[in-house]
Amino acid sequence: MSHDIHPYIGFEEYSEHVPQSIPLAVQQATTRFVGGRAARVAELPQWEQLRQIGSDIRQHTLENMDVHLTRLEEKVEQAGGHVHWAKTAEEACRIVLQIAKDHNVRTAVKSKSMATEEIELNGALEAAGIRAIETDLGEYIIQLAGTGPSHIIVPAVHLTKEEIAALFSQHLGIDAPADPIELARIARETLRAEFLNAEMGISGGNFLIAETGTLVIVTNEGNGRMCSTMPDLHVAVVGIDKVIPDWESLTVFLKLLARSATGQKLSTYTQFITGPRRAEGEFGPKEFHLVLLDNGRSNILRDPVGRDVLKCIRCGACANVCPVYKNVGGFAYGSFISGPIGAILSPQMLGTPTARELPYASTLCGACADVCPVKIPIPTILRHLRRRVAQGDEFAASTMPIPIRVTAMFASIALAWNWVYRLGARLLPIINPFFRKNDWLSGLPYPLNRWTKVRPLPPFTATFRKWWNVRSAKWKDSTR
Ligand code: SF4
Repeated sequence: MSHDIHPYIGFEEYSEHVPQSIPLAVQQATTRFVGGRAARVAELPQWEQLRQIGSDIRQHTLENMDVHLTRLEEKVEQAGGHVHWAKTAEEACRIVLQIAKDHNVRTAVKSKSMATEEIELNGALEAAGIRAIETDLGEYIIQLAGTGPSHIIVPAVHLTKEEIAALFSQHLGIDAPADPIELARIARETLRAEFLNAEMGISGGNFLIAETGTLVIVTNEGNGRMCSTMPDLHVAVVGIDKVIPDWESLTVFLKLLARSATGQKLSTYTQFITGPRRAEGEFGPKEFHLVLLDNGRSNILRDPVGRDVLKCIRCGACANVCPVYKNVGGFAYGSFISGPIGAILSPQMLGTPTARELPYASTLCGACADVCPVKIPIPTILRHLRRRVAQGDEFAASTMPIPIRVTAMFASIALAWNWVYRLGARLLPIINPFFRKNDWLSGLPYPLNRWTKVRPLPPFTATFRKWWNVRSAKWKDSTR
């Protein structure tokens, strides 16, 4: 069962992947989350202070990441765990495969993890003959569907209960009813056997506490706990940006995360793993490995504007309020992480030449920044990335064709100098006869033909002020 939307796909290919039910299913779910978040936030008068503290802690951590990561490694090893550093996605997969090979693993159960989506671990495990079973209900569903997640915290948000029932019937050989409780029961029973059977558990991590070397996993289904206690071997793949200094910081983030993500005061299960279990009878794996994933994060840290993306605690609140995400769904973003956070993370992680459309897939309305629990200035980073796409920088050359850059340069001169603008407004109507077909302009020369081959332009008949005066006079007449 491979994820067929990876790696990044552009908008052209998007339409091949989009199920027709996406807008309705996504809008219903995100509206519910937005309402829940607003109710929980209203209960906390100090919410804004909490956001500021969360943002400050993340800022401090980014500025001192080397110190916290070194401390984390030391503490995990003191607790009896093993720490591996992975510079790239391929290296992270190689490390996990080697651990699996050393322990003769045939089946691995997985807790929900965006980091393993990022490195496409399932595909690597399957290629090595190891069954990788997703155990979060949403992840299990999309694994059956053979796609990637369409939302950070609710990966199967785009599917209706009827579509999920059809998937269960097709893959499990049963007649599954379109009843959410019944579908959850079927998944629970199917997965229980897998938990008992698996030799290895795999998870991501919501936070890594440097003070004690503790991995924190936050779930609502308890499957993370099953993955880390049933098999004797546990491997956590976690981005280096997940490190936080201490337990006091965690209390801030747990309050911010659950309220922002699902509108809960606290998620149902918050699990702490500090190394392997130390005595028989204790819960936890016998052997614990932590794979610290860089995969471009160190590079992102070098960008003083873009680096704020690494403050993200993956709550998904920005996607829930985004007018674009709600209408196009997560697959339109073309990579493992969707919504406004995906629009600022993917171009930085994959490179602007690969994901150059994403910074433009936004209305810049700012709703995402208003709800972000760690105050990431998403619209500012979007504008910054647009500039990087257009002009290039030390990370990547410009990906804008030269004629478009030249046109944009002239447009910016015209808009900055009033007399140039006025002169242009008088000259433009002169070109009308050359390109006019009926009441429209079409077939304009390159690069304007990039627009006119898709839709015609209205002719330039008057300056904007004249056009506006005529139009507003008509409107006033019609409302009298
Ligand atoms: S950018 Fe902010 S709102 Fe969006 S997922 Fe990250 S923390 Fe949540």
